[in-house]
Amino acid sequence: MEEQTYLPPALRPKLAKLGIHHLRDFLLHFPLRYEDQTREVALKDLMVGESVVVEGVVEFAETQFRPRRQFVALVRAADDDGLSHFTPRLTLRYFNFYPNIVKALTVGNSIRVYGELREGRNGLEIVHPLFKKKEDNAQLNRATTLTAVYPSSAGVPQAAMRTLAAKALKVREWQTELLPEATRASQQLFSWGETLTALHQPTDVSALASLEMRTHPAWRRVKFDELLAQQLALRDAKALRALERAPQVKPSNLLTPLLMQQLPFTLTPAQSRAVADAISDLARAVPMTRLLQGDVGSGKTIVAALAALACVEAGYQVAFMAPTELLAEQHYRKLSHWLRDLPVKLTWLAGSLTTSELKAAQAECKRGEAQIAIGTHALFQKKVGFARLGLVVVDEQHRFGVEQRLQLRQRGASSDEAFAPHTLMLSATPIPRSLAMSYYADLDVSVIDELPGGRQPITTKLVSETRRAEIAERIYRAAQNGEQAYWVCPLIEESDKMEIELQNASALYADLVTAMPNVRVALLHGRMRADEKAEIMQAFIENKVQVLVATTVIEVGVDVPNASWMVIEHAERFGLAQLHQLRGRVGRGSAASTCILLFADKLSDTAKQRLKVIYENIDGFVIAREDLRIRGPGELLGSRQSGVPGLRYANIEEDIDLVEAARNIANQLDHDPHFDRAAFLARWIQNRTEFAKA
Ligand code: ADP
Ligand code: MG
Repeated sequence: MEEQTYLPPALRPKLAKLGIHHLRDFLLHFPLRYEDQTREVALKDLMVGESVVVEGVVEFAETQFRPRRQFVALVRAADDDGLSHFTPRLTLRYFNFYPNIVKALTVGNSIRVYGELREGRNGLEIVHPLFKKKEDNAQLNRATTLTAVYPSSAGVPQAAMRTLAAKALKVREWQTELLPEATRASQQLFSWGETLTALHQPTDVSALASLEMRTHPAWRRVKFDELLAQQLALRDAKALRALERAPQVKPSNLLTPLLMQQLPFTLTPAQSRAVADAISDLARAVPMTRLLQGDVGSGKTIVAALAALACVEAGYQVAFMAPTELLAEQHYRKLSHWLRDLPVKLTWLAGSLTTSELKAAQAECKRGEAQIAIGTHALFQKKVGFARLGLVVVDEQHRFGVEQRLQLRQRGASSDEAFAPHTLMLSATPIPRSLAMSYYADLDVSVIDELPGGRQPITTKLVSETRRAEIAERIYRAAQNGEQAYWVCPLIEESDKMEIELQNASALYADLVTAMPNVRVALLHGRMRADEKAEIMQAFIENKVQVLVATTVIEVGVDVPNASWMVIEHAERFGLAQLHQLRGRVGRGSAASTCILLFADKLSDTAKQRLKVIYENIDGFVIAREDLRIRGPGELLGSRQSGVPGLRYANIEEDIDLVEAARNIANQLDHDPHFDRAAFLARWIQNRTEFAKA
């Protein structure tokens, strides 16, 4: 019994690449598609586009050299003498061929071939058909099941894949039904055994389409089980985290009231609620995992700063991280400003520091002197140890993939103390329901659903780029009045992006400098050193620069309340989320703001749709929903790019109903004595540990 489950040693390394380490793994390695070798069609009845088995004798065979080297054979029906003018014939064509093919296709041989029919120069043909020589072949009998085609890598032939899958299917205990009867009944699910057979060796030819489209009930069962495993794993991870000890932060209320007094504004009710949520989480001995979600400009930074200060008051350190250096620097300046009269030690950690500066900063963290350490995520990668890390703040969390979220947790776990720090994540991107129910199921969420008062609405204008001079004239007048503008350079898609981006930006900059005498125009681009960027940004903040020409480095998070003009070149090239983020850079102060979207002549339909959405809407939630509608599901939150780990078959957007069902069932199964949770998780998760933690 045992040795049956071994994999052929020669194939092992290749199978391992497919994630197959054990014969059992074949059961969850489902076919991509199927070949219907059960349908045998007479030569005279063949039709273009069908995939069929055809039988006949080889009438002609030769290697040809024009237009390229190829082996061609002609086949006719065995019971046809071939003398009639109307004898139907089939051409078989190989561009890659080996001696065994030439041998098998010798004139006079009886053969069976399988493949897709297409219209060739001389009638129907099959390119690279699968074939069987008739005489020596017992398998010549018609296939009785659809033939599975498995995802495979070079070096593992389909035949081997099929044989191994068939072998795995013979081990009965691997087909044990693990779901309780009641669950299956309530969800109307196929049994596990039925599911495996239906997918690996389907006999029902009429199901071909639904199998390949993955809408067949067997697929529903697979996806359900997979999502259920995910839900169970998330619950387990959450339960495990509940066992971790986090520092219990008891704010002394020495510093926070002082900060509140310093602020030039009062918190909105939504901000106060978010602060209260965070403070009450921090007071618990269980690590907080909270997402603070609020539209662009809703004021998330101050909420994070107050939570950070509560930790500092209680004697703990805080790590504050941002996705870009520019943004981290801005946070550093902002917090320095807010905390300028308070006895709080801020430490700046950035890639641009010299080695000795970085060493000094790291030492401050290590010794516990740094009370709030601010920097990019390099802060974490470059092994920064903390003496008493209480809280990690992650700004623009959606810019970090799931992977980084994982790393973060590990980072926390390996911090010097036996404590796991609290985490507070900030994001402007609303989480779609599907993600909230699956990958973020273990997060607590605070929402800031109002913008600070006293803001004037932003006027959005769509203007053809042919009127650029007019716009420059308008901005010039505004700048002479001490108003400030961002002028965003077009997004470049080509591969040598940076080079072209820089050229365009420099050209635009030169134009504007000429067009605006006595006004200071500055250029900010991705090639600059961090300190150069910071210097220009600071000049802009102090209104020493009135017009800031920028590549999209300003996209996320930059905050200069006096800036009230935003011009975006080639707005049609930007995605909705980006446009929303960019527009959110203005409308932050008390002055009325204008966002001008310059567009080029020929707009694609989706570009038109996008511009219409951004023109008509200001609410980030509505824009995100429209974005989802226009782009199709899956791309939001970078979940596609960062590769959501764990799910092979289910798609959280398309299978949202199953996500919901799985979540409910996971709840019920917590108390079900008939459910073997460990066995179920083992079946789906095995050594895929990342699945459980993400
Ligand atoms: P985001 O949520 O996009 O990160 P920020 O935290 O950068 O927004 O805040 C945007 C601007 O609004 C900042 O200039 C901030 O100082 C200001 N701000 C924050 N809260 C308030 C408030 N309650 N009233 C007025 N202005 C506020
Ligand atoms: Mg922000």
